[in-house]
Amino acid sequence: MQVTGTLQAQAWRRAEFPPVERVTGGVWSVPVPIIGNPLRYVLTYLIEHDSGFVMVDPGWNHPDSWQALTAGLAACEIPLTAVTAVLVTHAHPDHHGQSAHVREQSGAWIAMHPAEDRFVQLQAERGLMRDGMAMYLQWCGAPASHLEELVTNRRENGGITPMVRADRLIEHGDLIDAPGLRLRAVWTPGHTPGHLCFHDETRDLLLTGDHILPRITPNISSYDMSSNPLADYLSSLDKLRGIQPREVLPAHEYRFADLDSRLHDLAAHHRERLVETEEILTAAGSGQTAWQIATQVTWSRAWTELASFQRQAAIGEVLSHLRQLQARGLVAEADTDGIGLWTAKAA
Ligand SMILES: [Zn+2]
Repeated sequence: MQVTGTLQAQAWRRAEFPPVERVTGGVWSVPVPIIGNPLRYVLTYLIEHDSGFVMVDPGWNHPDSWQALTAGLAACEIPLTAVTAVLVTHAHPDHHGQSAHVREQSGAWIAMHPAEDRFVQLQAERGLMRDGMAMYLQWCGAPASHLEELVTNRRENGGITPMVRADRLIEHGDLIDAPGLRLRAVWTPGHTPGHLCFHDETRDLLLTGDHILPRITPNISSYDMSSNPLADYLSSLDKLRGIQPREVLPAHEYRFADLDSRLHDLAAHHRERLVETEEILTAAGSGQTAWQIATQVTWSRAWTELASFQRQAAIGEVLSHLRQLQARGLVAEADTDGIGLWTAKAA
């Protein structure tokens, strides 16, 4: 993998905010802060077409984020009213939080994959999902204090406002409706069910959202008690193999080239974590909860240093690996009084 966003990578190392940049003719990146998150910013992309601009991932819903987005647009000399479309790689609040605001101010339509739109609808119907969440966390073996921390953290960071549904739906392979632009959607489920990448076929740039990031692996989380998103994610990695775009434009961190080597590393990471998870269960010898396993997995930081939302992501990540191991017949799951216990199957 080769870093091409050198100013962005430099800023990342110095823990600074990267500059607004013209990526190439007709394409700009604007960093938009994510409040209370170590990822620090989303890279919002603007792509010019014959009658305006497409905006990809408008960022987190917060006055400071809005300020950064509008100041960034001004620096690029792009009036907000010239934005005709908001494309959402996935409906996480750090990407989709400000979409409604952009639509209000510009009249742009908002588009995402149907599976992502369903996800937004479900979230709105369930509200904060506190009851469902409590049941899920008990099943994972999480202590009660964990849920309390999560709820407090969300309230403080303003991430609980419901997000808007799509005005238009984008399917795999669709060309985005923007005159003179050849921007094609690639459906890459895994990080979320309806995650999309966008390939600018003219400039040979691939916008990868959170599916492919240069430094970290995106969270692949079972957010319920039955899904197997890791299987989806691994086939979504395969889907991008061989495209080898000139440059990869991710939603966080920095731009880079040589996508295939990054795909290889990401697949290897999950293979290793599958092995580690199975080894933890084999060594334990008795049923383990997802929480117990999560405390033993090698994360980028010690378990005791992880914030509540990072632990939440970690449990989801452990579950997605357990589901994949289960699909391969290597581990078994048992439900004991509402608590899920996992064991390795004897070879
Ligand atoms: Zn993100």
